[in-house]
Amino acid sequence: MIGAGQMGSGIAQVAAQAGNDVLLNDRAPEYIERGLAVITKNLNRSFEKGKLDASERDFILARIHPHPELNGLDVDIAIEAATEQLETKLELFRTLDAVTPEKTILASNTSSISITLLGGATNRGERVIGMHFMNPVPVMQLVEIIRGIATSQETYDFTESLAKQMGKTPVEVRDFPGFVSNRVLMPMINEAIYALYEGVGSVEAIDTVMKLGMNHPMGPLTLADFIGLDTCLAIMDVLYDGFADSKYRPCPLLKQYVAAGWLGRKSGRGFYTYA
Ligand code: NAD
Repeated sequence: MIGAGQMGSGIAQVAAQAGNDVLLNDRAPEYIERGLAVITKNLNRSFEKGKLDASERDFILARIHPHPELNGLDVDIAIEAATEQLETKLELFRTLDAVTPEKTILASNTSSISITLLGGATNRGERVIGMHFMNPVPVMQLVEIIRGIATSQETYDFTESLAKQMGKTPVEVRDFPGFVSNRVLMPMINEAIYALYEGVGSVEAIDTVMKLGMNHPMGPLTLADFIGLDTCLAIMDVLYDGFADSKYRPCPLLKQYVAAGWLGRKSGRGFYTYA
């Protein structure tokens, strides 16, 4: 598991819960520690609620091994969930191609970046695939599985069965910017930010309209904070560049929030503030 942030830690947890051994990597040991602390907290919560006994909790934690250096990776699959930046991911895919055996499948949890492009950075396009989990990973059922142009059927089958083994429901989609999930979701969030920017309603008003009026479990601005505003902006940029269509223009207010370091829940401030 490359990246131990919100998504990487969640994927590592669910993979280990399903009985897999996981090597957990991030760009520095303290980020791995932070990811492990989140996993431990989640498992302790399940233990306190009586959903997990202590020995099972300890077994799950023992299956997750910190792996600070990207070497010695004799693994069936490497799942990348690093920051949503093209250069970061291209560099990681080049490295993973060099440090893993030929058999290893390289999967990305990217929200929007082309799987074909990531495959093109390697010499094994047939073993590169998108495995897009939803946040929070332990709770959400869906995994979008995205084939790049070169992805083989064998790679697809392995990835689909891994998603099922992890208790998820895989859905196959094609390699277009934002795939299905974020092509539909992110323009709605961006539009909610425009509504705020143009003073159509307050943060609370916009979220309440969508919750009570559309029966969404959380409002779009709450959801944006939860996803991370940097990730939301990165996805809008991919949609805007990828389709060259002004309807995907990221809202200037979203850009300002990200520039200010107001990234949502993970930084303590976004459209709401968090303790
Ligand atoms: P995050 O900011 O919580 O975590 C990203 C992690 O990647 C950080 O711990 C960072 O240190 C690490 N990282 C950055 N560069 C790295 C490198 N070179 N090597 C190893 N680790 C590196 O972000 P997140 O929300 O976990 O998002 C991660 C990925 O998952 C992104 O591609 C994002 O688009 C995707 N995703 C996010 C959500 C969501 O709701 N947040 C949902 C689905 C998919």
